[in-house]
Amino acid sequence: MKIVLASSNEHKVKEFNEMVKDHDITFVSLKDIDFKGEIEENGKTFEENSLIKAKAVAAQTKEIVLADDTGIEIEALGEHFPGIYSHRFADSNGGPLKTNELLIKKVPGSKAQFTCVLTVMNLEDKPLVFKGEFKGKISNKLVNPDAFGYDPIFIPDGYDQPVAYYGDELKNAISHRSIAFNKFIQYLKDHKLIIS
Ligand code: IMP
Repeated sequence: MKIVLASSNEHKVKEFNEMVKDHDITFVSLKDIDFKGEIEENGKTFEENSLIKAKAVAAQTKEIVLADDTGIEIEALGEHFPGIYSHRFADSNGGPLKTNELLIKKVPGSKAQFTCVLTVMNLEDKPLVFKGEFKGKISNKLVNPDAFGYDPIFIPDGYDQPVAYYGDELKNAISHRSIAFNKFIQYLKDHKLIIS
């Protein structure tokens, strides 16, 4: 099954293909469908932004489209913050490393949660939504500081080290992204749209 990922970031397309390597699914990027224009992500929630991206792409192709929106919410920073602004929040604080250094000083121990929302269009006559949540707290030290995003400071519930300490295997088993993805894969299997 070919799926257009609502992203022109080749690295992201590679990552998504890695996640479905055991299934009969291949992601292609917006460049592959010659997508025209910019997508304005002006929603207020992960669900809204994911839907905005999926709809914008589905307006230009009949292929199956998948869009994601992902981020972290840190209770001590206020409701749903940085949430949909997770990337911009890190940029505005001088990048992921500086941001993580700031957070371990400002909000150690605060509850935090990653969310990933996947929206799929052109499979049914309505958008399909699959959501994954990954709960934990902010650590008081950095582990593996160059790891992705907030991984160096996010301690999953039930663990005592930040997720970056454990590596990809654990992350791929319990993360927001893998939970959402597994729901999507299960849907495809249940509807006999993929056989493996
Ligand atoms: P994206 O839309 O997948 O790029 O996610 C937005 C931002 O949320 C990223 O730039 C990261 O800062 C953060 N983020 C999302 N998922 C993760 C994760 O699994 N680990 C650490 N940070 C993440």
